[in-house]
Amino acid sequence: MALSIKRPLGTEDITPQNVNKWHTVETIVKDTAKTFGFKEIRIPTFESTELFERSVGDTTDVVQKEMYSVIAKESKFTLRPEGTAGTIRAMVQNGLLNDALPQKVFYILSCFRHERPQAGRLREFHQFGLEMAGSQSPYADAEVISLAKSIIDRTGLKNIALNINSIGCPTCRANYHKALKEFFAPKVDCLCDTCKSRLDRNPMRILDCKSPICSDIAKDAPLILDYLCEDCSTHFEKLKSILTNMGIEYSVNPKIVRGLDYYTKTVFEFITTDIGAQGTVCGGGRYDGLIEQLSGKHVPALGFAMGLERLILTMESQGCEFMENQSCELYIAPMGDIAKDKAVELAKNLRDEGFLVEYDIMDRGIKSQMKYANKIKAKFVLVVGDNEIQSNSAKVKNMDTGEESPISLDKNFYDSFSSLYMANMLVSED
Ligand code: ATP
Ligand code: MG
Repeated sequence: MALSIKRPLGTEDITPQNVNKWHTVETIVKDTAKTFGFKEIRIPTFESTELFERSVGDTTDVVQKEMYSVIAKESKFTLRPEGTAGTIRAMVQNGLLNDALPQKVFYILSCFRHERPQAGRLREFHQFGLEMAGSQSPYADAEVISLAKSIIDRTGLKNIALNINSIGCPTCRANYHKALKEFFAPKVDCLCDTCKSRLDRNPMRILDCKSPICSDIAKDAPLILDYLCEDCSTHFEKLKSILTNMGIEYSVNPKIVRGLDYYTKTVFEFITTDIGAQGTVCGGGRYDGLIEQLSGKHVPALGFAMGLERLILTMESQGCEFMENQSCELYIAPMGDIAKDKAVELAKNLRDEGFLVEYDIMDRGIKSQMKYANKIKAKFVLVVGDNEIQSNSAKVKNMDTGEESPISLDKNFYDSFSSLYMANMLVSED
């Protein structure tokens, strides 16, 4: 029976044909994070639902509409919709915050959100993210932003705009919430049902609502920047001057509030217009209250997450370069049963030294073996038959140039192949 079960809506397969794109971005993000002193952390795919309700916030779209939760043996669990909550939980639970600060960790993980699937918006997607805990200095904000910028530069992407804002602390928020409530109260009947219920509890969330009616009403809402306390305002001014000194271009966008409740002070987004409506490639900010909320210990912190599907989509649309999948370095074509055993031995010899070697396991004739070697883009082909085994020597063919070179099949096999390989690599680099 033909396979009729398809992958769930909003998920994607990453096949061997395009996995090189993932290897490319994974290598770039890991290498860059390491040069800034970040270490990798790995956390569970699911957590207690309460973790997300308390951190991401129970008035956010993520918690109200997008979480995949299950009740299993009477406990409530949720597939992680983002990485920060679980990472902070893990840092607290493993005592990382008792060590020397700042603590700096990064991760690559899949996230799950029940959203309407479209280009750049999936139900399972992947994030590269990082968290830095311990510093309240605006230099930490600039450090994290410049790390994201370095990654974007290393991918070769152009025209990715950095937008920054400050959404203040609970002190500024109190006055701002009052102003928002006054602004939205006369228009409450026109708001969507979710926003109606947000008006009392968390009016800032209305500014992030995706409903066109709510965003239209919110167009002229008061701006948080006009309500910042002195501490938040000084912090934001200092961050701007550090970014300018670093040569990082940015725009202040007083409308960015971000979709997760834990943010305080700095928020930022890297945005592209090249992949349609879902153009936020990276989003992040400071969350000075989150660790205290989860552990009782006050530790200021900040971080960001990059959507890897959106990053790759943008790279594709801009024609950025990706690493190639490694292809076969030597294909051994045996003729006859004795030659097959010899192929096994020779392949092991080179594989133990790191070469990518394949040989026929399809019982093909020599002609179709050559066809197959071409198809897999083998760099060299070695034909082994009775004569070659008897004389312990053979010819190895460079598939690019067609040139044939003698090679010994005895204990010098690895040495002769690797010197031939290196010589050819040098020539093709010229
Ligand atoms: P958006 O406003 O696009 O919904 P968000 O504010 O919900 O984004 P965050 O929670 O900050 O996004 O997640 C960080 C990054 O993860 C986003 O900037 C984006 O690149 C990526 N991302 C978020 N949701 C999705 C999704 N459903 N599919 C693919 N990537 C996503
Ligand atoms: Mg979202």
